[in-house]
Amino acid sequence: GQIEPSAASLPVPRSSDASVALDKIRLEGHLREALDKGELEVRLQPILDIAHHRIAGFEALTRWTHPERGPISPAEFIALAEETSLIVPVGDYVLDQVCSALQQLAPGDAADPLFVALNVSGRQLADPALLDRFLAVIRAHGLQPAQLKIEITESLVLDYVQVSRIIERCHAAGIKVALDDFGTGYSNLGHLHKLEFDTLKLDQGFVRQMHEPRCLAIVHAVVVMAHSLGCNIVAEGVETQAQLDSLRELGCTYAQGYLIGKPLALVDAVALATSAAA
Ligand code: C2E
Ligand code: MG
Ligand code: MG
Ligand code: MG
Repeated sequence: GQIEPSAASLPVPRSSDASVALDKIRLEGHLREALDKGELEVRLQPILDIAHHRIAGFEALTRWTHPERGPISPAEFIALAEETSLIVPVGDYVLDQVCSALQQLAPGDAADPLFVALNVSGRQLADPALLDRFLAVIRAHGLQPAQLKIEITESLVLDYVQVSRIIERCHAAGIKVALDDFGTGYSNLGHLHKLEFDTLKLDQGFVRQMHEPRCLAIVHAVVVMAHSLGCNIVAEGVETQAQLDSLRELGCTYAQGYLIGKPLALVDAVALATSAAA
């Protein structure tokens, strides 16, 4: 007789795919609205200069609270924005917020002004007009280009010809460039020697395991390598005093993480920057 397929091998109903797609379209509409209404919030996470024990700058991290779904993680909505090219207006909005924040945090005529680092994604980098737009916004706010750092995540460095062109153009304009999430998956030392990043950001996975001697050895080697390349280095995800103490001993330049501070609302970032300066 005929063998009936078991329930387990029956194909999943297509409606679930369709509802995922619908969900995405709905979310995209909400994101577009959130952007128009100014519902995206740019938070600033402090970055500590370890040796001098002072706040050197901040990383801009974007937050979105959906009216019904509540907070949506950047991992989700940035990916969505990437897919739909909403990332371009989102990125421009983030830059505008960052420049307004910088005006309050550190006027461009200060002696040793704070920097703000902002994440840029693949599609933004592919936009040839991005840098000119960035420079226009920086100038309109009366800031120095050196106060702005762009963070490029390591997985994007796959296209290293494009990245090296962007680094060159940034440097010509005076903007600093950081390699984000260093050590996760795509590390290619062959590319690294051709790409003149100002900063390496060591991924938080390494910092979390620094109590293990082999991991500590890797962190040590990365710090030495960064310094030899003329880069400064930010340890991400620093959560304990023991981690900070080890990083200081290793000569790591900067630390970022919950021990130093969470991503803060602008008023709190300004309060922290001014209290640390006093
Ligand atoms: P990222 O650039 O590597 O940012 C660091 C992430 O680590 C942030 O997650 C931050 O909140 C989190 N973090 C900081 N300190 C600690 C700590 O001590 N412990 C732990 N467990 N986590 C810590 P977040 O804010 O969820 O952002 C995730 C990613 O989304 C970012 O990774 C960045 O790639 C992307 N992203 C965020 N905002 C933007 C944006 O405005 N534009 C673009 N293109 N990407 C963004
Ligand atoms: Mg980053
Ligand atoms: Mg990172
Ligand atoms: Mg990351």
